[in-house]
Amino acid sequence: MATIRRPKIRELREAITALIKGPYTIKYPREPSIPPETYRGKPEYVEEYCVGCGACSQVCPARAIEVSDEITGPRSGVRRITLHYDHCIFCGQCQRNCITGMGIRLTNEYDLATFDRKEAVVGVEKELVLCEYCGAVISTVDHIRWIAEGMGPKAYASLGLVLALHERLGLVGETAPRGDIPIGRSDHVRLLCPKCRRELIVREEWG
Ligand code: SF4
Ligand code: SF4
Repeated sequence: MATIRRPKIRELREAITALIKGPYTIKYPREPSIPPETYRGKPEYVEEYCVGCGACSQVCPARAIEVSDEITGPRSGVRRITLHYDHCIFCGQCQRNCITGMGIRLTNEYDLATFDRKEAVVGVEKELVLCEYCGAVISTVDHIRWIAEGMGPKAYASLGLVLALHERLGLVGETAPRGDIPIGRSDHVRLLCPKCRRELIVREEWG
């Protein structure tokens, strides 16, 4: 026959303390649960500080962040960065490695239950910069400006960055469409992808 184990002194003391002080647990969800400051909950993009570089997707171990570029016209496109927080493991690597340091943050929001997983997304959209010769994606407007501003006077070593800076200051107007002519001297003052700029420089140097 099984014998009933007698409570130890420590267990009795804890039971009496709980009776006087009340339980350690809270009656969630009837009472709100306030997470600590350092809690890692639902990630959110901060539109103002995110430049759309996509670095967060490259460091995400759960592959929860998707980057897709859509070309919407001969000289326009949009980058969509979509974070599927139903795949997120809340490790904080995206926040830690964000190039601006403030483009994404893990909030204190923890109540993320949903009936439809398609709703479990947050994201940001940024305007793309396309190569004016071949149409390849260079990066986003905000990303190029962020690099140009961060480099300061050194940005003047790269014509693409100079154009990005001067455009922000209103010193560069809309450039005329270049047509189908081969790459040449006039393309020096256009935004080109690294491949086309290399081709231009090689042609200029070696004929
Ligand atoms: S700026 Fe930060 S949050 Fe935005 S895409 Fe780049 S790494 Fe991600
Ligand atoms: S917290 Fe971790 S798993 Fe979640 S999106 Fe950021 S990097 Fe990916």
